[in-house]
Amino acid sequence: METATAAGTSSRMSELNGSRVERRILERPAGGMPFSSQTKINAYNFPFTFNPGAGCFFKCAYCYLRQPFFQRHVQAGHGREMNYTPNLAAAAETFLKAREGLPQYMKRVQAGVSTELFMPQMLPYTKPDSLLKEFQKDGQTWMLHMVTKSPAILQYADLLAEMKSQVQVEVSFVTLDEPAAKIFEQGSPSVAQRLKIVEELSGRGVFRENNDDAGPEGVLVADGRQ
Ligand code: SF4
Repeated sequence: METATAAGTSSRMSELNGSRVERRILERPAGGMPFSSQTKINAYNFPFTFNPGAGCFFKCAYCYLRQPFFQRHVQAGHGREMNYTPNLAAAAETFLKAREGLPQYMKRVQAGVSTELFMPQMLPYTKPDSLLKEFQKDGQTWMLHMVTKSPAILQYADLLAEMKSQVQVEVSFVTLDEPAAKIFEQGSPSVAQRLKIVEELSGRGVFRENNDDAGPEGVLVADGRQ
């Protein structure tokens, strides 16, 4: 059961590998800008990043969110607290309007680099479909790259399939070995659940061959970052 503890704040006890842990969800003050410009642009750094908030309940042992730079934003520690910026669709509309004159090669956003974009507990607050629809309506010339480990992304499979010319989905694995994943990614969905994401989105044409220059491509990337 989730209980309000302060305005825009909630906490609940959840099961994680047989243990009871408290998880907190906090609302950031209104008016925050979840889009950031990047100073370094290359194959791995897109011109813009987008995070609906910060923190991640998956609590991977290798995650860079454990570092002090990221921990300064949270009160309950890595894996126990997530926060979000309210009304992300309005923020996306403002962002797209302000940047509409940019050259095509700059119109790329990497989403979910400092959080899990499709964390099930956060979906009622972050409403990823509203964000996607904003890009579908006003940002058709933009490419949106999303990083996830969460099968909850499949709730939006129909919409992602409609937007396949402008979205990339990156599903991350540190290993395909389930016992090893349980050690390093103890709070994350299983390898099998993540492979299911790839299978289902491939079936809808969201993932494509990675050597085709015709447009944005879905990619399956194994990395140690997300
Ligand atoms: S899923 Fe990604 S953001 Fe979340 S804890 Fe694991 S590595 Fe960090």
